[in-house]
Amino acid sequence: MSALLTQAAPAMGFCGNRLVRSGEERSEETLALALRHADARIFLSLGGQWLCRTVEGRADPAFALFEAQALGGALEEAVLLGWRREDGAPRLALALPEGMEAPGEAEPLDLRTLAMEARLDAEAQGELAQGQHLLTWHRRTRFCGLCGGRTVSEIAGYRRRCTACGQMHFPRTDPVAIMLIHDGEGNGLLGRQHHFKPGMWSCLAGFVEPGETIEDAVRRETQEEAGIMVGEVAYEASQPWPFPGSLMIGCRGRALTSDITMQDAELEGCRWFTRAEMQAMLEGRHADGLSLPSNYAIAHQLVRRFLGG
Ligand SMILES: [Zn+2]
Repeated sequence: MSALLTQAAPAMGFCGNRLVRSGEERSEETLALALRHADARIFLSLGGQWLCRTVEGRADPAFALFEAQALGGALEEAVLLGWRREDGAPRLALALPEGMEAPGEAEPLDLRTLAMEARLDAEAQGELAQGQHLLTWHRRTRFCGLCGGRTVSEIAGYRRRCTACGQMHFPRTDPVAIMLIHDGEGNGLLGRQHHFKPGMWSCLAGFVEPGETIEDAVRRETQEEAGIMVGEVAYEASQPWPFPGSLMIGCRGRALTSDITMQDAELEGCRWFTRAEMQAMLEGRHADGLSLPSNYAIAHQLVRRFLGG
């Protein structure tokens, strides 16, 4: 399993996070300990984007703690992502006050764009994904879902406690099944959503519902979106997807039927693609200009693996 993930890390987005999380040791003292570390670095979120300096053409999102403070950052509200494997230096993330101006030497950049344009190294990209997921959860969990009371961050940002009723709230991750369905003869089923850029097709996907296995989610989504019945389902790979807080679970499924009936308003199109056609899309040389998501997306990797590349 770990070998598979390591192998996928350089190409697939958000998978290069190597921080040591030490989850068992998180306590009320952990954040203060990290903030006292001389080599601590912090990622700064501003209006949902990340402050980055440009260093030799690459985006550098790491700031010193004093820089975060100078920008008005409240370090006691930071979340600890983990400790670097090489030197034990902590990496943290913090949301800066809303409405503030970006400092001159840094610009706020969107994580999806940073990933698509491969402007971060794999580790920083994975660490920012963890930070984005956590900070979004904090912003959405400021009040208790049970009693409406105010919540406060605890154990370095991995728990929020309601100050009124004491209920603990933990970071949540929403599973999404994403699947390449094939017919056993080399053809793959791809769909187009209305918001896709012109000519782009991708794997079908949908949230795993409560009380449902991943395999059944693959079968249900494919039946709902394309009217295709699916038999055997196999797990392929997964990808953190912090928009806002998902885990993409990549699968391959074998179709039992071939006639497509589109039943989902979400899709603009859905059809079978031959192996040659998918290969051409992967290599950017499809005769009609059709394309796949770029290699940072797991959909790209699922098609590539299916084609054996
Ligand atoms: Zn409460």
